[in-house]
Amino acid sequence: MSTVEMTIPRAAVAPPMGVNRLFAAGAPDLASHLARFGPAPLGLTPGQLLGELEASGLDGRGGAGFATWRKLAAARTSAGPTAYSAPVVIANGAEGEPMSAKDEILLRHAPHLVLDGLLLAAAVTGAREVHLYSGPVQLASVRRAIAERSDARGVILHEAPDYFVSGEASAVVSAIETGVAIPRDRRVRLAVSGLGGRPTVVSNVETLAHVALVARFGAAWFRSVGTDDSPGTRLLTVSGDAVDRKVIEATGGLPLAEALGAVGIDTSRLRAVLVGGYHGAWVPASDLWVRLSNRELEPYGTRPGAGILVALGEQHCGLAASVGIARYLAAQSARQCGPCVNGLPAMAEVLARLAAGGGSARLPDEVRRLAAVVTGRGACRHPDGTARFVLSTLEAFESDVRAHLAGYCEVTHP
Ligand code: SF4
Repeated sequence: MSTVEMTIPRAAVAPPMGVNRLFAAGAPDLASHLARFGPAPLGLTPGQLLGELEASGLDGRGGAGFATWRKLAAARTSAGPTAYSAPVVIANGAEGEPMSAKDEILLRHAPHLVLDGLLLAAAVTGAREVHLYSGPVQLASVRRAIAERSDARGVILHEAPDYFVSGEASAVVSAIETGVAIPRDRRVRLAVSGLGGRPTVVSNVETLAHVALVARFGAAWFRSVGTDDSPGTRLLTVSGDAVDRKVIEATGGLPLAEALGAVGIDTSRLRAVLVGGYHGAWVPASDLWVRLSNRELEPYGTRPGAGILVALGEQHCGLAASVGIARYLAAQSARQCGPCVNGLPAMAEVLARLAAGGGSARLPDEVRRLAAVVTGRGACRHPDGTARFVLSTLEAFESDVRAHLAGYCEVTHP
């Protein structure tokens, strides 16, 4: 049986959907940035900016979707009186998720907006140290941007390794502290004790770029597009069989079908769409009217997250495609916790036996049992995300499951 093709071509920017905010400068240099946006309003008081961010409804664009104002306020509240207890802000541009390219595109095309957001986040929290963590191509772009301005010379750059969990928040802190990007047990929140024991904000680079826009134009402007529960715009990385990864800026709450159509995917010939990346969930092709919002995606067990959409063509078997992803995720753990060392490989292999066809009718229940066993048991959420993806496979491809148990596959493989 076939599996999803997992070669990762270089991403391209597609025309924006409806509005063009984050890439409105049109070029990555400082002159273009200032001509379009003007200087960052660094004179705003922390209370003013936190108030605008709260009213804007901006949430994190790295996956978890925490309210941005709350994250910044928590670090500010935890600040101590000395440099050793002052907050730290880290811009996270690591995209361990193979189907995501939005942060790379953003850092290559609009690095000044991200730097503005980073400096504003530092001002709001009272941080005396700021870092930016990303891949080598993106860092080269940021280095050029920093050389063009005097206020960002203190930003400390770090190269992120390219594996799935390297962008997890505690792994980012660990990478900067020790050089090894391994998630840590987080009984104490990073906002209280992170890098060197200081209150630490790890914020996705797209989130910071939106902070820079909200600071300039306000919450009402941010909310002038999108929906109530998904205001503003968000970057999406969209891919499918015949479409390499493309990054688009879409208004919040866009229906899935429109996002896919924007990059040229034929929505009449799909089997399902993976929403939220490999830690997300499948939405069947019958439901492409669903909007990219937390509320509408909740019944499927996912959320817009880091804005990843992967379209699965009708010629693919959903089970076989999911086995490829489950095996990839099982191989990507840091192998320091039981659920990852034993549970994820076992879960992927039971799913593979199910996909192979003609197996025991108990296999779906065994997948569910293993998913329950690994969930909530790791130092980070990698097992939980993997279990969520595997469970959504059983649900979205229910007819495939029945067919495979009966010894045949509904899809004619090429
Ligand atoms: S749960 Fe898995 S990925 Fe997370 S820290 Fe433990 S071994 Fe690493």
